[in-house]
Order: sequence, then structure tokens, then C-alpha cells
Amino acid sequence: MAGMEIARTIAATRAAVATARRAGRTIGCVPTMGALHAGHLSLVEAARRDGTFVVVTIFVNPTQFGPHEDYARYPRDEAGDLRQCERAGANLVFLPSVEEMYPPGTVTTVHVARLTATLCGPCRPGHFDGVATVVTKLLNIVQPDRAYFGRKDYQQLAVIRQMVRDLNTPVEIIGCPTVREPDGLAMSSRNAYLTPDERQRALALSRALIAAREAIVGGERDPAAVEATMRAVVEAARPTGIDYVSVVDPVTLQPIERIAGPVLAALAVWFGRTRLIDNVVVDPIGDGP
Ligand code: AMP
Repeated sequence: MAGMEIARTIAATRAAVATARRAGRTIGCVPTMGALHAGHLSLVEAARRDGTFVVVTIFVNPTQFGPHEDYARYPRDEAGDLRQCERAGANLVFLPSVEEMYPPGTVTTVHVARLTATLCGPCRPGHFDGVATVVTKLLNIVQPDRAYFGRKDYQQLAVIRQMVRDLNTPVEIIGCPTVREPDGLAMSSRNAYLTPDERQRALALSRALIAAREAIVGGERDPAAVEATMRAVVEAARPTGIDYVSVVDPVTLQPIERIAGPVLAALAVWFGRTRLIDNVVVDPIGDGP
């Protein structure tokens, strides 16, 4: 078994992928922004289980951060990330520079309409354009058979599915379950920003989702009532701000009148300078704990 390769250029990545293809491998891609944790590694594991030649991309994409967001202070740990990739069994890590991804003169972006008009879209103008553009580029560079994304970023996954459908990108998008800390907090690179006190209060996100599930499975059919229940749980933790607390259609991400089938409960909440998101799909007929 060859060791893990590291590529910093598009050309080196294409060459390594071509070699794997000639050896008969299918290609799996796991796009990340680094500061890797068990959530990311679960995507690598899913790609390995599928038997793919696993390409992890690590790129803190500047175009998906707003001017007042955390691009400059986003956690970066290249050496640690490479160790984790190797241990998890990745075959190739693509670590491009900003200049490699966005050479001077780059003027093309990808915009996915409609799905980006709700939830995180209005709170983070331009964010999903940055995501759609960089994922398009990464898929064109790696040309994987499958690409793996976490349901932790549910709206991002929905946007990417829509994008590859609309653009006929020849890739299968695989959605993977959210990996949580033992106490329920969804794993996120941004959790590193939290003070111990904020970290404790941040449990309100997963608690609000559990409360939403209990309400819906218990018979509540009014989305506004479920949102009020979630909001009360969040407010009890004294957040710095609430971007949204929503119960929406899991396919269109649009508001619903009544809960008559599976719904997405999703929220974005600030603790200190840290914005956290979480979500769960709830089936009113119950789908286990
Ligand atoms: P990021 O590095 O935050 O851009 O995330 C890279 C990929 O990892 C995305 O597909 C995320 O949805 C996924 N991811 C991040 N956190 C988790 C988690 N806790 N569980 C599962 N997937 C995750």
C-alpha cells in the first residue's frame, strides 16, 4: 500500500488521480477547510468503505467568507491535518494556495438560486456563491466518481446536489450523518473558538433540536409552535444572537404551513463571536431516538 501523497498544485493532483484511475480505482473526494475533526474523518471513512481512492482537499476558501467574517482567524493546522488524513487512510491530500485556486483574472462564479434564498443565505450574502464556485472547481480538478459532504451543513449539501444536477456534473453526491461530541454538540472547526462557558451554553443548539423532535413526534403539527419551543431552549442559554430558528420543508427549504411529513429543523446561533449551526430532519411518525 503506497503512502499518502500530498499535492499543492492542480497539475500534481490531476497526475496522481490519473495514475489511480489507470490502476482501475474509482475516485472519492472529501472537500474540507481543514482543522480536521472526527466529522471530517467520518467522510474519509465513508469514502474508504466505498473502496475509492480517497482525495481529501484542504482549502480555506476566501470567497465563501464575508468581509466581516472569520477568514483571517479560521483555524489552520496543516501538520495536524496531514497526520489525521494519513491515519484515516486518505490516499491523496490536495492543499492548494489561494493563488493556485484563484489566479489573477478569475472572474467566473457559480450561483445556485432559490435554495440559497433561505436559512443561512440571507445571513451570509455571497457565502453559497463562494461554496458553489469552489466546489465546482474542486470537482473539475479531482473529477471524482463520488464526493462526500456532511449533513451538518444541510443547506450546503442541498445546494451542491442542486448544482451538480443543474450543471450535469458527472459525480455522485453522498450525504453523511452529523458527528457529535458525546454531549450532543455537533463537531465543527469553529467550536475551537468557544470559551468554556460558551461551549457549555452552545449545547442549547442540539437541545433545541431534541425538543423539536419530541414536540413533532409527540403530535405538534404547527411549525410556528415548534419554532417557539426551540427558541425558548436557545434563549435560556443567553446567546449573543440568533440568526434563525426554523422548521422548513427538507427539500425546498421553504416555510411550511403544517407538518405533514418529514421536516428540517435548523438553527444558527451566536455565542460570543462564534456562529454555530445545527439541524435535524424529523419524521412526524417517529424515526428512532
Ligand atoms: P468544513 O471543513 O467545515 O468546510 O467541512 C467539510 C465537510 O465536512 C463538509 O461536507 C461538512 O458538512 C463536513 N462536516 C463538518 N462537520 C461535520 C460533522 N460534525 N459531522 C459530519 N460532517 C461534518
